[in-house]
Amino acid sequence: MSSVSLVASAQLPTPWGVFTMTGFKEEATGKDHVALSMGDLTTDAPVLARIHSECLTGDALFSLRCDCGFQLQAALQRIAKEERGVLLYVRQEGRGIGLLNKIHAYHLQDQGADTVEANEALGFAPDLRDYTICADMLKALGVKSLRLMTNNPRKIKAMEQFGVHVAERIPLEEGRNAYNEFYLATKAGKLGHMLHD
Ligand SMILES: [Zn+2]
Repeated sequence: MSSVSLVASAQLPTPWGVFTMTGFKEEATGKDHVALSMGDLTTDAPVLARIHSECLTGDALFSLRCDCGFQLQAALQRIAKEERGVLLYVRQEGRGIGLLNKIHAYHLQDQGADTVEANEALGFAPDLRDYTICADMLKALGVKSLRLMTNNPRKIKAMEQFGVHVAERIPLEEGRNAYNEFYLATKAGKLGHMLHD
């Protein structure tokens, strides 16, 4: 049984092109998630894809503490350029700890903790994200295999584990700045992200 149900679809015009927005309800929690897609996803050719976890501060409030907003925009632009692909926008703020706990974690980071230490000090595992729902959203959209834009090997492993083949990994390095340098170094050093510089 799927962990999500497909609720509704509509067009979503953006500065880069017109996407189809599809809304999903997560059965276990009642949370809502969306997919932005373009082109026919159901053919055998692997689909350009991005799994983006919600980051209110980075996506909507222009935060430079992370690279989320930059990655979100770059991924949508890339999909629009190829006129085929999908971006999952998954409501798992702060690697799953939620917005208010993320602000607590930022406070600890202002005092010198790194992102992993801060989450652990608050009693959370470094990454609570659940990728079952992502695989189920992709399956509901008819996607069989991915060209996945990610620097995170866990996402690739999780997709394969939940039955979505990853044919190719496409690096997505955007938005590095003086404020997120330490955060990105922690992601590379402690969470296994594949970053170049
Ligand atoms: Zn972020």
